[in-house]
Amino acid sequence: MQGELIIKAESHLYQEKYDVIIIGSGLGGLAAGSLLSRRNYKILVLERKRRVGGRFSTIKKDGFKIPTGAIIIPDSWAIKLFNEMGIDMSALRPLTRIFYKINGTDYEISPELGIPMVLNIIDRLERERAEKTGKNITAVNLKEILGGYLRGIRGVKDENIVTVRDWLLQFTENEKVHEVFDELCAALMMAHSWELPITKFFRFKEMKKFFMASQGNLSIARALARVIESSGVVWINSRVTKIELKEGWATGVVIERNRERMEISCRAIISDAGPRMTLQLAGPENFDQAYLKNLRIKIRPSPSILVLIASDKPLCLEGINDGLEIIMGSRRIRTVVPITNICPELAPPNQHLLYASVEPISCIHPVEIQCEINQIKRDLQELFPHFQKHGRILQIKLCSDLGNSPEGWTWLGYGMPIETSIPNLFNVGDACIAPGLIGTTGSVESGYRAAETVAKLLEGHE
Ligand SMILES: Cc1cc2nc3c(=O)[nH]c(=O)nc-3n(C[C@H](O)[C@H](O)[C@H](O)COP(=O)(O)OP(=O)(O)OC[C@H]3O[C@@H](n4cnc5c(N)ncnc54)[C@H](O)[C@@H]3O)c2cc1C
Repeated sequence: MQGELIIKAESHLYQEKYDVIIIGSGLGGLAAGSLLSRRNYKILVLERKRRVGGRFSTIKKDGFKIPTGAIIIPDSWAIKLFNEMGIDMSALRPLTRIFYKINGTDYEISPELGIPMVLNIIDRLERERAEKTGKNITAVNLKEILGGYLRGIRGVKDENIVTVRDWLLQFTENEKVHEVFDELCAALMMAHSWELPITKFFRFKEMKKFFMASQGNLSIARALARVIESSGVVWINSRVTKIELKEGWATGVVIERNRERMEISCRAIISDAGPRMTLQLAGPENFDQAYLKNLRIKIRPSPSILVLIASDKPLCLEGINDGLEIIMGSRRIRTVVPITNICPELAPPNQHLLYASVEPISCIHPVEIQCEINQIKRDLQELFPHFQKHGRILQIKLCSDLGNSPEGWTWLGYGMPIETSIPNLFNVGDACIAPGLIGTTGSVESGYRAAETVAKLLEGHE
């Protein structure tokens, strides 16, 4: 595919004018591009890297196909897009079973019952612990938490700006219960329970079904790029260095490609490079104060550490080919996905691949990576008895705004609008995430919004 893209690009007339230029080929950019292509707009996607997909892509290491970011695709906007674009859905494997590891034992939690079921188990275990040890254990207060939780789902008033942890402290000081809520916040909403406001927490829509790409995410990103190529072009190795403006409107971009500098004009621009990068490319002086303030207070990049473990023996959930495990009480490792139980194609024969997601101790402060790695290594040894003899770390990667690929460009509920101060320049991607959505699905939804808005704008200027 990369070869195909390059051949097509080199035979293209550079001075050609496009309807829409899309900066970046992450899921947000590919969603907007494929939807606009289907409406026959002439699209040019510019991607600075050697492959499409951004944080939804795949690289090869030691014969393993490893993710650049996302691993689990919720059954929501992304799946809707793949269906509409004719992606081969047999390439997606369902991930339907969720296990919680509590005090070293796996409990399967029905997605229908979700958090209340986990709290019930913790309540029972804490009572048993109190009986066994004869010690006073901090009460779980199950009835009170569940009451508060159900009221919260029905809606919390916006003026109640307290953190999730403060809200929960009304009902219980039991740290096991606090761990459950922190796990949910960190894994899905990009911030810890002591960082995230409760109002944002209750906007999250619990998801019941997930998928994984059996050939790796790159195969899906490439399929979306091929849809765009039906009425446009996708250029890799093409970095946008400037957005050109005239009389307050975007008129085109300057790019660096094969050590050449090119100017390409267009009628509208959609940027998937993140609003901060978009601002730099177009020049901060071209944005109004209200927009700049919104950007300052809303964009909160969330760091994450992507850990991939290779082994010659399954390390967890052996024999279960559609499940993931959420771990309570560990130092750092929160969620593990035994990738090769679900998609054995992603590893060499007789090898196994485990994905562990790690949220550093703070989602606000800079990450002390060596300290995090030490904690992760201790977790691996304690959680997986076979790790020492049969496993090895394939990759530990810090994903943060410093390397330009945080886990999410902003926390759940802090998304920016897709519109900017420039009438024909839009942002897409997970910085523009709609309330209640996460990662891949939020990026795709922003692509739907951008495609609709740009199509209306272009129709109005035919
Ligand atoms: C470790 C990790 C785990 C994750 N796990 C999950 C998960 O399990 N489930 C889930 O739903 N989400 C997950 N996510 C989040 C998900 O990957 C992202 O939300 C989503 O893929 C972001 O897509 P995007 O379009 O916003 O941006 P990106 O994928 O970041 O795409 C932006 C693209 O723009 C390109 N670009 C930037 N600047 C320029 C420029 N100047 N010129 C040209 N190109 C440029 C970049 O190279 C990149 O390809 C995870 C993320 C990480 C990092």
